[in-house]
Amino acid sequence: MESFIFVTGGVMSSLGKGIVSASLGAILEDMGFSVNIVKLDPYINLDAGTMNPYQHGEVYVTEDGVETDMDLGHYERFLNITTKGANNITAGKIYYSVIMKERKGEFLGQTVQVIPHVTDEIKSYIRASAKGVDVLIAEIGGTVGDIESLPFLEAIRQMKKESRTSYVHVTFVPLLSKTSGEFKTKPTQHSVMKLREIGIQPDIIVCRSEKFIPQDIRKKISLFCDVDEEAVISAPDVDTVYELPLIFRKEGVHKIIVKKLFGTEPVKIFPLKPWEPKLSKWEKIVSIMKKSEAESVRIAIVGKYISQEDSYISLKEAIKHGGIANELKTEITLIDSEKLEEDGVEILSNFDGVVIPGGFGSRGTEGKINAIKYCRENNISILGICLGMQLMVVEFGRNICKLERAHSVEFDTSTPYPVVDLLENQRGIDKLGGTMRLGSWKIKIKEKTKIYEIYKTTQIYERHRHRYEISPNFIDILERGGLTFSAFSYIGDLMIPESIELQSHRWFIGVQFHPEFKSKPFAPHPIFVSFIKSCYEYKNEKEKSIC
Ligand code: GLN
Repeated sequence: MESFIFVTGGVMSSLGKGIVSASLGAILEDMGFSVNIVKLDPYINLDAGTMNPYQHGEVYVTEDGVETDMDLGHYERFLNITTKGANNITAGKIYYSVIMKERKGEFLGQTVQVIPHVTDEIKSYIRASAKGVDVLIAEIGGTVGDIESLPFLEAIRQMKKESRTSYVHVTFVPLLSKTSGEFKTKPTQHSVMKLREIGIQPDIIVCRSEKFIPQDIRKKISLFCDVDEEAVISAPDVDTVYELPLIFRKEGVHKIIVKKLFGTEPVKIFPLKPWEPKLSKWEKIVSIMKKSEAESVRIAIVGKYISQEDSYISLKEAIKHGGIANELKTEITLIDSEKLEEDGVEILSNFDGVVIPGGFGSRGTEGKINAIKYCRENNISILGICLGMQLMVVEFGRNICKLERAHSVEFDTSTPYPVVDLLENQRGIDKLGGTMRLGSWKIKIKEKTKIYEIYKTTQIYERHRHRYEISPNFIDILERGGLTFSAFSYIGDLMIPESIELQSHRWFIGVQFHPEFKSKPFAPHPIFVSFIKSCYEYKNEKEKSIC
């Protein structure tokens, strides 16, 4: 029989439900269970590809080339899994599939309805993800009380009778006054009430709050929401999200879940599992990240989606992972590229390294180009990712190869030097969803290059999400100017640049792919490890020259 943990959210969004779900998975994995984890998103979009990062945070790309919810990034970072597009189940996918079945005549003679047809489809998607693992964690997006999440909640309610289930509800417990330390439980009571109206009684309530909630508050929540007192779990704000599995162990979440799913004698079902989470690798990284005497490097991300904390979440985490590998702290600042156009780029002198991330649309591109020029001329470590690499090529073309008004045709269709262009295979595409170069592609690395030194191999696989490519027509002229094209992939017979670098520079590397999607705290991506190391060396040189 399959075992499911369903994670719902109450009171408001952005409580970190994804990290809570991933942390539950991390503990169970550490105890020896095999785990898969899915995100159910009640929106009608088929995938997150056409969503604005301002509204929805980062779009995370899986190996199999699906543009998904950013929570899948948390899942990959916390667990030993590689997610697939199937780990993100949207209402769009469900309805699409129900409608296709209706057209085929699979429901012949019936009225197709939310219950049972849509709910059955949701259940079959969830079940398919549970195949071959001991436990499936299913996180339901949105907040209890939303109209659109109702079919999902109904589906998971029905599963109680059919499988082993445990329901975890994540709520918010506001701290009214820091001085009196008064916590308020009413929002939690109301959101649990809403959940029970639908027929779901939570087994565990995870209380997000500024600080640990005291015992009397746990007692109150237990009484009003009808959960055991030890099942009221405190999840306070933390310095680093990687602390959460440790906090959950201390709070005893794993014991409650195992008991709920497998009864008081789980050994009967799993005779060989170790029952206590050791979490040693988690303890190790948290202690590095919190080491008070550790030095830090200051990194600027020059982008345009800066008002949404989560727009660059995988990038920020990958930078932190680079810090962990070098036993350094990383102070990350998001800088509005549009502001650099007005105020100049000198602010960048306050940083030890700069990242130009991926992006779409012309706003702020000139600010990014100015930032690249500044780093190139002042020998400041700079990493360009996707759009960042494309703009590095534009900058180099304009300022070194004297290709006046060189640009990407994404931003200037009449540029005399389209150094970044659409290839034949992207011309005439009229649908925007799911049509970019997406997911994992094989890449060949040239020996005797900086990127070869970083990867120490000539063949890698990295994830992509872009439509425009560095035009092969300009490689010669750019190379003559001194730019090295250090890696390529093949689209048909065409060799497409995947990375560029400057030999004369301390660390000037651009990559067409997204290394940030594959970095994990326990397996920091080599590009970020090398980048942070060079930022630290630069910092030390700067400090020495001041002395
Ligand atoms: N907008 C660029 C393209 O589509 C870069 C995309 C990105 O940075 N992810 O090619």
